[in-house]
Amino acid sequence: MSRPETLADQRLYLEDGLRQLACHGCGALVRVKKTSPQHTSIQWSTRAVRECAEFATRVALGETTALVDGCTTLRETIERAVREGRLEAKAASSA
Ligand SMILES: [Zn+2]
Repeated sequence: MSRPETLADQRLYLEDGLRQLACHGCGALVRVKKTSPQHTSIQWSTRAVRECAEFATRVALGETTALVDGCTTLRETIERAVREGRLEAKAASSA
């Protein structure tokens, strides 16, 4: 899925409002971006996939990684981050 010409876009995307969050359950580090109040974009690294037991289990059961939001704990982690204002729909440009 990752074509060379999209790498620059991905880099831009990474710096645009993405937050690195560690799952409270498994410790997997994922990059999360709140693209809108209803939609959260989660980027899983291969390492995070290995670290998250629930994610790995669901993938092993045949789910496509792109469709897996992550483990239950990660979703709670993200929701908490949103409530605490650490994850906002708009990219924060403050240092
Ligand atoms: Zn997890």
